[in-house]
Amino acid sequence: MDKAIFLDNAATTRTDPEVLEAMGEWQGDNFGSPATLYAFGSQAKQAIEAARQHVADLIGADQKDVYFTSGATESNNWAIKGVTEALAEKGKHIITNQAEHHSILMPCGYLQKKGWEVTYLPVDSDGLVDPADVDKAIREDTVLVTMVHGNHEIGTIQPLAEIGAITREKGVYLHANAAQSVGHIPVDVAALSCDLLSLSGHKFYGPKGVGALYIKRGVRIVPLLHGGGQEKKRRAGTHNVPGIVGLGKASELARKNLASEANRLSTLRDYIIDKIEKNMDDIRLNGHRTRRLPNNVNVSIEGIEGESIMLSLSYPTAENARPVFVSTGSACVSGTLEPSHILLALGLPAELAHGSVRISLSRHNTREDADYALDSLFAVSERLRSMSPVYKRGSKQCASGSSGEGCDCEAAS
Ligand SMILES: *Cc1c(COP(=O)(O)O)cnc(C)c1O
Repeated sequence: MDKAIFLDNAATTRTDPEVLEAMGEWQGDNFGSPATLYAFGSQAKQAIEAARQHVADLIGADQKDVYFTSGATESNNWAIKGVTEALAEKGKHIITNQAEHHSILMPCGYLQKKGWEVTYLPVDSDGLVDPADVDKAIREDTVLVTMVHGNHEIGTIQPLAEIGAITREKGVYLHANAAQSVGHIPVDVAALSCDLLSLSGHKFYGPKGVGALYIKRGVRIVPLLHGGGQEKKRRAGTHNVPGIVGLGKASELARKNLASEANRLSTLRDYIIDKIEKNMDDIRLNGHRTRRLPNNVNVSIEGIEGESIMLSLSYPTAENARPVFVSTGSACVSGTLEPSHILLALGLPAELAHGSVRISLSRHNTREDADYALDSLFAVSERLRSMSPVYKRGSKQCASGSSGEGCDCEAAS
């Protein structure tokens, strides 16, 4: 990893050394279970409660409302399945949007098979949900609105506070999937008026396999996991003590560094976007230009496959001696090259949806890294385009900003 430039931080981040150090103690001599009553275990219990306070402070919550889980996937599943089951008598309708993460879409699909109705609201060409659409979609039998806060693929930040004001007024629960935003931009459960909120440790320099669900006091929800009495009988299973301590440390560090880090990264993000737009023809910025996570860049490069770019960048060659790791919205999953549902929801024509590259930054990335990665990206794209049977320079399939004449994006959206 020394030489490599890791620009796939929306997928996962490197655990901070201070987090590793904090966890170390709980992986060695101090192995007691927090559930035991003798003093050895009670230290673990104290460590867990201290971590809970740090997580709560990061999201403006009461520590009593923070429940530890195995990550955002579990938190999302718990929020959706737990609330719908608890409120099944009130109604069987929930609302989400078309550009969600699979850990939201799959539980929604599961509920549909069990007789629930799910409204998937559209997003505009920047990936934004219109709060007025949420307002219109809420019915008598609606029990939950679940909305991502920061989109993992295109970085667009949803107007959650506006949506929260609507759900609050109508007496419908709002769940926020904040896996990408917590630790990167200010997140305050009261300001967002959300009733439930999911977060994940490894998305902000904490350990993998640990996260939390914020459940506002009084919210009706049934457990996902039944067993022991942990987490006030709401989430059974022996606590992942090192993971929870690590999540607490990551939360503490994030709170301390958030403003300066968000500032630095959004400057670097805009520098990258600007340089791509100046150096490449026939590209499109995906996601909103300003209402955007500080660490996310996503562009479609016309005429070539995102997967080819991703793979070419990841192997050292004459063009790029240092491997560069990025992501694409068109990865070859189980043999089929399907563009991501998120890019399709923006209204991108398939050719552009296939050519997407996501660059996601971390606190470890420098401007020098970015310059190196961009030079590699330009060289690789030029080579792939020169071999592409479909690419015609200047075809204006969809110029950046998607307002160009003859732009198929607009027509398709
Ligand atoms: C990473 C991510 C998840 C899943 O989180 P895990 O902790 O890895 O299960 C869910 N939603 C979004 C938006 C994410 O970025």
